[in-house]
Order: sequence, then structure tokens, then C-alpha cells
Amino acid sequence: VVNKIAALPPGEPYHSLEFFPPKTSMGFQNLQARLERMARALRPLFVNVTWGAGGSTATKSLQLAEICQRQLGLTTVLHLTCTNTSQTVLDETLETAKEIGIRNILALRGDPPRSDDYHNTPCDGTSNGAGKEFGYVIDLVRYIREKYGDYFCIGVAAYPEGHVEGASPEKQDPLFDLSFLVEKVKAGADFIMTQLFYDADKYIWFEKLLREEPSGVLSELPVVPGLMPIQSYSMLKRITKLSGASLPAYILRRLDDVKGDDEAVKRVGIDIVSEVIEKIKAANLSGPRGFHFYTLNLEKAVSFIVERTNLIPPLHESVLEEIEGPDMNGAA
Ligand code: FAD
Repeated sequence: VVNKIAALPPGEPYHSLEFFPPKTSMGFQNLQARLERMARALRPLFVNVTWGAGGSTATKSLQLAEICQRQLGLTTVLHLTCTNTSQTVLDETLETAKEIGIRNILALRGDPPRSDDYHNTPCDGTSNGAGKEFGYVIDLVRYIREKYGDYFCIGVAAYPEGHVEGASPEKQDPLFDLSFLVEKVKAGADFIMTQLFYDADKYIWFEKLLREEPSGVLSELPVVPGLMPIQSYSMLKRITKLSGASLPAYILRRLDDVKGDDEAVKRVGIDIVSEVIEKIKAANLSGPRGFHFYTLNLEKAVSFIVERTNLIPPLHESVLEEIEGPDMNGAA
């Protein structure tokens, strides 16, 4: 992932798409068809496959990662959580990931198993089948580096508005999390992906905070802001509550106006997320500009947003040549 980001032409924005493994084989078939369409139309720089807390989706996550990486040829980031998981499961997963050609891992602590999504509840951060060895994600980052050297490119999570656990149960605080983020990076992380948010100003403040952090380890590291298209009013309320993302009053007002009409909520939601992207782009933060989308395996809203905000990369000449054959004008 970091090599692909570094290789982008200057100023070219990029995006990534996240998917979770379906439960049934029919679900897999449908998702594979959707993934193929989305990959062709949107050209994400990479895709992510989520991991059920405690390894609850291990087999299916690896199956989906294999489809993405091997069958569809997409650079794939496999999420991997370390709490409530035995070291054996971690070892087997990393070996299988290697076998199927995965080079990128998003290392996460994980929460207790709860539901399909993970934008959810805090946990005590210590319980684990293998004892306290993997109490926080820094232990997993160290473990992967020790065992696999530089084979895997490792990403870690960050929270623009603070992790829901925060310094105290009532108080999320990005400043409280900052020193732990620095430690995760010092332990070997290569890039950062963020929790979802809807307040662009808070994100811009956060990215500047990382860039100016005194140790300097965050000054140039790729940071990919996470965004979730708005699928419905009730879901938005639930997701923001669980993730701790705030909804600025000017955004909430627009949604409140249409909250009884699902289609209108989606339309306004596309406007809102697109505006968040444009605002971040306009802030002229340093480094390549990318955006990560929590798709929830849905296609429409994210496609509109990516298209509207010009995040679909142009087909470069080498690719065009592959499709259309070489340009004969210049041939000898
Ligand atoms: P950590 O970095 O360990 O931090 C967790 C909390 O503990 C933070 O508040 C941090 O400040 C604090 N902390 C860290 N180290 C210490 C320390 N030494 N002492 C005291 N406090 C400390 N979950 C899944 O189950 N599956 C997924 O696929 C998944 N994907 C995700 C993708 C993204 C981009 C994000 C942002 C989150 C994802 N999650 C996923 C959720 C994640 O597992 C939870 O947010 C989890 O609670 C924290 O994980 P972490 O890796 O950030 O943990």
C-alpha cells in the first residue's frame, strides 16, 4: 500500500474501499460480482477486508481476501485483530495471508464480538486466549515485525475525535490516544487509517496534529481518512453513537429536514460526504490525498461520491496500451 501511494503521480488523489465477508455462499457470489463492477468502474488503489472480532470471521475473511487479491488482482489489506484470539489463530492467519499473496495487514486490537460491524463498544483491552501478550495492538505490530520482518506492510487505526474509550468512559480525547499512536508507529506501522467522521474541520485539525507531533514519526506517514456513506437516518445515528463520531449541527439539520424519506436521506448523504472530501482536499494538507470508504458492501452511494469528487484515477498510458494495444503513431 505505501509503495502504491508513493508511486502516485504528484497531486493525484486516490481512494480505497472496505468490504466485510458475507455469511453465505450466495452472498459471496453477489459480492464478488459487485466487487468486479466496482473495481472496474472506480479503480480503487486498494481494498480492505474486515476481520470479525476474536477471529469470528477468520475463514470467510481469508476467503474474501483471496478473491480480492488473487482472483480480482486487487491490492488487498487484510484486517487482523489481536484480543480474544489465540496466538495459534494469529500465526495461521498470517501464514495463510502470505500464501494467498497478501502483503498488507491492518493491525487492530479489536473489540469483544458483538455484531457484523465493528464501530461499536469499548472493551477492557486485555482479555486474550494467549494471556496479556496481545493486550493492545502495539503487541501485534511488534509480533508481525519480529516474525516477518518487512514482508508485510502494516497499517494501524487512529481516531480523529478520540477512541470511544478515551481517557475516561465519558471523554474521548485524541490527545490521550496520540502517544499510543506514536508508539504503534515506532513499533513498525507503515500507514494509518482513521475511524469514520463527518466533521471535516475536526479531521483537518487532527491531521495537522499528527504532522506536527514532536517525535516526527508521524510527519510523513500516509494517513487515510475513513468515511462512511450515509445509507439511512437511523443507521447514521447508530453508527455515530457507537463510533463516537460527531454530527455537526449544520449536517444534522439537512438530514433532519428529510429524515422520513430514505431516498432523500441518501441523496443528501451523498452531498454531505462529498462536501467533507472537498473541504479536506481544499485544506491543502501535505502529502498524497486519499480517502477510505467503509462501503458496508453497498455500491451506489460510494460510487456517486467517488465519481463526484474526482477520486477515480485516469487510465494511465500503460494501462490504455494493455487495453487498446500500443499507439502506432510513434512506431518506427
Ligand atoms: P489500540 O491502538 O490498542 O488502542 C485502543 C485504545 O487503547 C485507545 O484508546 C488507545 O489510546 C488505548 N491504548 C493503546 N495502548 C495503550 C496502552 N499501552 N495503555 C493504555 N491505553 C492504551 N475491529 C474489528 O474487530 N475488525 C475490523 O476489521 C476492524 N477494522 C477497523 C478499521 C479501522 C480503520 C478502525 C479505525 C477500526 C477498526 N476496528 C475493527 C475497530 C477496532 O478494533 C477498535 O476501535 C478497537 O477498540 C481499538 O483498536 P486499535 O487497534 O485502535 O487499538
